[in-house]
Amino acid sequence: MDTMDWSNLSFGYMKTDYNVRCYYRDGKWGELEVSSSEQINIHMAATCLHYGQEAFEGLKVFRGKDGKARVFRVDENAKRLQSSCDGILMAPLPTEIFIEAVEKVVKLNERFIPPYESGASLYVRPLLIGMGAQVGVKPAKEYLFVVFVTPVGPYFKEGFKPTPMVILRSYDRAAPLGTGIYKVGGNYAASLVAGEKAHEMGYSAVLYLDAKEKKYIDECGPANFFAIKNNTYITPKSSSILPSITNKSLMALAESMGMKVERRQIPEEELSTFEEAGACGTAAVISPILRIDDLEEDKSYVFSKDGKPGPVCEKLYHKLRAIQYGDEPDTFGWVRIIE
Ligand SMILES: *Cc1c(COP(=O)(O)O)cnc(C)c1O
Repeated sequence: MDTMDWSNLSFGYMKTDYNVRCYYRDGKWGELEVSSSEQINIHMAATCLHYGQEAFEGLKVFRGKDGKARVFRVDENAKRLQSSCDGILMAPLPTEIFIEAVEKVVKLNERFIPPYESGASLYVRPLLIGMGAQVGVKPAKEYLFVVFVTPVGPYFKEGFKPTPMVILRSYDRAAPLGTGIYKVGGNYAASLVAGEKAHEMGYSAVLYLDAKEKKYIDECGPANFFAIKNNTYITPKSSSILPSITNKSLMALAESMGMKVERRQIPEEELSTFEEAGACGTAAVISPILRIDDLEEDKSYVFSKDGKPGPVCEKLYHKLRAIQYGDEPDTFGWVRIIE
């Protein structure tokens, strides 16, 4: 691995040595199994293939200056996966098994955890799928939980830089009483057309409005939205957005830095009053927003005049990264050292 070019890794899949699996059969979860195969043997009538019984998670492991591997808020991912399972009627996986599986797969692939200096990390991808054969529309009786890892490069290769996003009023990602609050594959399938369209037009992501009234900010593709004004961190309250663990952490950090935090509906017009805006999620922590264009309404909202991130985005970003890499004390108890 000495030949690995850690700082030029992309956010793609790279084969590692092992993955960890756990089957749910006869009404219970079995023992963790270690596999070196990248394949899953699956029945052609499995519910994940036909009726979308699939949920996933995403989290990262960071190697500190001290050489130790740190996983960020893994208990929150375990809880969120349980909520996704409840949402699409899959057998929920107990938190202990989730954490044990993550620790195991990270230790088994220790040589793939990038060094501190690279700014890269080890991405952990847990997924849970319906395996039982079922032709009628019914939940499966059997499930498979798999965790694999892959090293990923620093998200901002050219530095921490704001990008433009777009409102496309003819697309919705999720309905108010639908599955938007769960991390399920179906939401991603539903967002691919709009996402590709935005990319073709040179935008980094789609900013969705609420599907019912088309009035309030929902979320930015696969990341939550937040904005800053008057020393306040403001993020949407909505029944169709995924509860981001990064957003939850940023809210706590903002509060600890003496800012006010508001979780409430954000009407689109309010965008013109924000000093800074950003998207947040595990992949980038914060993607500062340069500008939001509402093409159909012929409106544009600008958050950065000089092409640089605002001071609050900058501060929150560095603070959270410092905690993740162990550069600053973990006063919130968010980090778990894997040894
Ligand atoms: C995963 C995800 C996020 C970000 O959540 P984090 O826990 O911060 O990584 C935001 N929105 C959607 C739709 C997601 O799937």
